[in-house]
Amino acid sequence: MELRNCPECGSVFTYIRTNLCAACLEKDEVDFKKVRTFIVRNRNVGIPKVSEETGISEERIMRYIREGRISVASSNEKIILNCEVCGKSITSGRLCETCTERLSSGLRKQVLEENKKELEEQHKETVTKDEHTPRMHFWKKS
Ligand SMILES: [Zn+2]
Ligand SMILES: [Zn+2]
Repeated sequence: MELRNCPECGSVFTYIRTNLCAACLEKDEVDFKKVRTFIVRNRNVGIPKVSEETGISEERIMRYIREGRISVASSNEKIILNCEVCGKSITSGRLCETCTERLSSGLRKQVLEENKKELEEQHKETVTKDEHTPRMHFWKKS
C-alpha cells in the first residue's frame, strides 16, 4: 500500500492507479468531461478560450491533452499548437502562416539589403576605378 499526497488538495490518500485522491478524481473527471465536451463541440477554439468558457485552468486542460485523454488530433488539431511569435493557434510546425510569411520575407529583405550593400560596395570600387583621375587620387591621399 502506498500513500501519496494529492497534488490538487494536498490530502493523503492510498495510491492505487491514479495520482489524485478520490474526491479530486471525481471532480477532475467532471472537469475533464466538461473540457472534452467543449472541445468536441468547438473545434476551432484555442486553449485560452476553452479555459475561459469552462472555468478550468489552462494548465489543467493542457494536462488532459498531454495525458492523451482528449484526442486533439481527431477533434481539434488547432488546440495543441500555438505560433511561437504571435501565439495564434496553428495546425502544424512552430509558426502560423502569417508569421512564417513575415519572417521569410523579413529574411529575404535582409538578404536583399545585404546584397544591395555588397553591390554598392562593388559599384563604388568600380566607380572609383573608372574615375581614377589624378585629382581623386590626390584627395584620397592618406
Ligand atoms: Zn485531492
Ligand atoms: Zn504567428
